[in-house]
Amino acid sequence: MKLDHLNIQQRQAVKEIDGPMMILAGAGSGKTRTLVTKIAYLLEEKNISPFQLLALTFSNKAAKEMRDRVGRDVSCDVGALQVTTFHSFCARLLRAEANYLGLSRNFTIYDTAEQKSVVKAILNRRGISQKETSPFEVMYFIEDLKNHGHYPDRDISDKDYEVEDDDIFYDMYLDYEKELHKANATDFGGLIGGVIQLFEKFPEVLERYQDRFRYILVDEYQDTNRAQFDLVTKLAKKRRNICVVGDEDQSIYSWRGADIRNILDFEEVYSDAQILKLEQNYRSSKNIIEAAGAVISRNTQRKGKSMWTDNPEGDSIDIIECSSDREEADFVSEEIINLHNEHGASYDEMSVFYRTNSQSRQIEDALRKSNIPYRVVGGIKFYERKEIKDLIAYIRLLVNDKDSLALSRIINVPTRGIGATTLRKIEEEAIKTDSSLWEVVNRIVDNPEDFKHIRLSSRVKSSMSQFVHLITEAKIAHDQGEPLETVYEKLLYESGYWEMLRASKDYESQARMENLEELGSAFTQFEDQNPESRFGTFLETITLDNSVVGKEEENQGEVSLMTIHGAKGLEFEYVFVTGVEETVFPSYQSMENGEAAIEEERRLFYVAMTRAMKHLYITFAQGRMLFGQLRFNGFSRFIQEIPNKYYTWRKIGGGIQANEKDDWDDLCDPVYDDEPVYRVDSSASKKMQEKKATYPKGSKIVHSLYGEGTVLDCIGPSGDEKVTIKFNDGAQKKFMAKFAPLTLI
Ligand code: ATP
Ligand code: MG
Repeated sequence: MKLDHLNIQQRQAVKEIDGPMMILAGAGSGKTRTLVTKIAYLLEEKNISPFQLLALTFSNKAAKEMRDRVGRDVSCDVGALQVTTFHSFCARLLRAEANYLGLSRNFTIYDTAEQKSVVKAILNRRGISQKETSPFEVMYFIEDLKNHGHYPDRDISDKDYEVEDDDIFYDMYLDYEKELHKANATDFGGLIGGVIQLFEKFPEVLERYQDRFRYILVDEYQDTNRAQFDLVTKLAKKRRNICVVGDEDQSIYSWRGADIRNILDFEEVYSDAQILKLEQNYRSSKNIIEAAGAVISRNTQRKGKSMWTDNPEGDSIDIIECSSDREEADFVSEEIINLHNEHGASYDEMSVFYRTNSQSRQIEDALRKSNIPYRVVGGIKFYERKEIKDLIAYIRLLVNDKDSLALSRIINVPTRGIGATTLRKIEEEAIKTDSSLWEVVNRIVDNPEDFKHIRLSSRVKSSMSQFVHLITEAKIAHDQGEPLETVYEKLLYESGYWEMLRASKDYESQARMENLEELGSAFTQFEDQNPESRFGTFLETITLDNSVVGKEEENQGEVSLMTIHGAKGLEFEYVFVTGVEETVFPSYQSMENGEAAIEEERRLFYVAMTRAMKHLYITFAQGRMLFGQLRFNGFSRFIQEIPNKYYTWRKIGGGIQANEKDDWDDLCDPVYDDEPVYRVDSSASKKMQEKKATYPKGSKIVHSLYGEGTVLDCIGPSGDEKVTIKFNDGAQKKFMAKFAPLTLI
């Protein structure tokens, strides 16, 4: 088998098949290529059976790509070859050996929602209210234990954590495991923990697998957690043919338990391990590599390595300063068209990255406006996300109350006790009387006596009345020309949707809340651009069908949009890294969490930069709508860390728009300077909160629908306050003060 597509070090890594080996090398140095070639080499040259090989990587997509590449390189049948993720590997193994652990082969894998309902039941049984302890706190605790490879009666004396005797969380974990076991179920963390348990309790099973997998290979090793480390260490113990490849500078999953000690301990577990370095980068231009190298050298938590390349110096990096996030998105779409039309670049050679999913909205809007085909990798297009569709359904109903599909989507979201059975009754009634669902609901509310035959509880009726009230009020506000965002916020807060997410405290809800804030920004922006327009026109613009575009451009592919976490391992000719501002990237949370968290963000930035082969754009906005507020964050410290010989600084657009600036002048200075400086400006939000409120905290109020309650919080400028109220029945809701029927008592 020819190996002339590899350099000397890569070839050495492929040919040395016996004994432990760790390849630590920078981005784009050919780690994945080497690993794939090594698999092919073992199969073709060393006649290892595909059955005896195990290759593990971090995502299904990466696994599929690897398997396809191996399939192309070898002549043997790779059907039995396990190139897979840790989770799929463990799921398969556990099914095969289920009886050892008292499970049956067809066990279920619980998702987050199912885990949550188990935890809720446990909290209930122990008489702990969810306000006292959120189910997600318990779930995190359990997940963390499992990331360490824990299972209930494991001997943990030499492990990383101690369990105290009266640890109620630990007790709940034990309850949780019992529940799952009873249900013949496990969860994601339990897949890996389950295999570890199996191997520790039944050495004969372990031995069987040790004998089977004579060669074990792991890609993206830097992002494995402790449980995964335990697992491969056990499997490889007998044969010791284990080859791991990784880059500590690309470790970006510590929040999911990835543990950098796995790299350090490899040499401890395998004192005879060969440690190889690959220093030549094949992916990117010299400029990009050196710039990325300069940035990552600021990190203290690293071994340090040098990279070089034979590639040409290449284009200068473009740092694009935009006045607003909208302008940033417009720049990206214009530049994409320019690259496509003027430079013959096809769309699939281009990618746009952002730090968090909610940032994709602006970019998607701009791309759609310019008819640029795109896909959101590892995510869902903004307007197809569940929470966005839900709120859009509220708005659809407001615009057109005959839209029964919209009504049925949200009449019980958040839960109002109007379940599937009730909805069915309403639907039957609507069919009988040839009316819309909205009409039927209204009739029930107005004349409940006429509907005795469908037997609705008074709770359901009162829920319906609140629902009708909400939609009607919002409709009036909309018709009276209130700002779209204001009407939207009324729906968002008073429906209880926001509160439902806020109460759940998990990462996913956090992301959904960010998306909903972003939808608010979309309305403001839309209204700025189309002053006379109302929701109806907005709905048209987002549902405009651009499928016609795709045809002509088919062979040109699509621009890929993704978070940087999702971009790991990939490469593109042209890369746009957007939103490179303080509090966005590095994220606000990381800035609160000290230097180690900033270093992880810096690694993330390094991952972003090193995806680019030919041309790298780094963009930021002076002002950005963030969490419902216009913010001037200043550009990221990471931009400042790029030595200026590697970039060209371009300023786009005409600065802050007059109307925006007037409003905000007294709150904060827009950050702008010719010299790269950075600063964080949180004064805007602080001052917002300091303004006098008409509903002081602690004051008693009465709401005409929900009754009496106490003001928990009141924020926003006078006349535009948002009040959070805790009602006497325990419910907590947020209102736009100027619309809510509130009276101080
Ligand atoms: P990452 O850290 O981002 O995962 P990596 O180290 O896995 O990067 P690869 O994706 O394997 O790097 O390789 C980067 C690019 O360089 C790919 O396009 C690959 O085909 C190419 N490449 C790798 N080795 C060589 C080589 N010896 N000669 C020519 N091209 C190479
Ligand atoms: Mg790789």
